[in-house]
Amino acid sequence: MSSVNDCIFCKIIAGELPSEKVYEDNDHIAFKDIMPKAPVHYLVVPKAHSPRLDEMAKDNGTEALGHMLNAVVKTAAANGLSDYRVAVNVGPKAGQVVFHTHVHILSGWSGMARDVR
Ligand code: 5GP
Ligand code: ZN
Repeated sequence: MSSVNDCIFCKIIAGELPSEKVYEDNDHIAFKDIMPKAPVHYLVVPKAHSPRLDEMAKDNGTEALGHMLNAVVKTAAANGLSDYRVAVNVGPKAGQVVFHTHVHILSGWSGMARDVR
């Protein structure tokens, strides 16, 4: 499990690694996923490091959870998304591979999302 020092998303936040930014506020950054699983695939990432959603409230305070979801809505609106799916993988068995809490925004399907899952 990565620490702040070797965390890929901390490096993106610090500008040490490139990303295609789609939204930013004081506490969050959102950028395009490097291996998109939908026509539109963004990651909304709190700037404060925490490894996973269930540890985030402990590390950064309960209100950080609400702020992160608000940043998700702002990211979608700022990029003209009307219909989108929001997902968080919590733990390796759920598919989490980057241990810096983040929310996936998936969108851009031409038909119904349930048909292209
Ligand atoms: P997880 O499976 O941990 O919920 O999601 C991690 C996501 O981060 C994956 O969808 C993966 O494609 C994306 N990702 C991993 N490394 C990078 C990177 O260096 N840049 C960007 N933009 N996305 C990354
Ligand atoms: Zn980090």
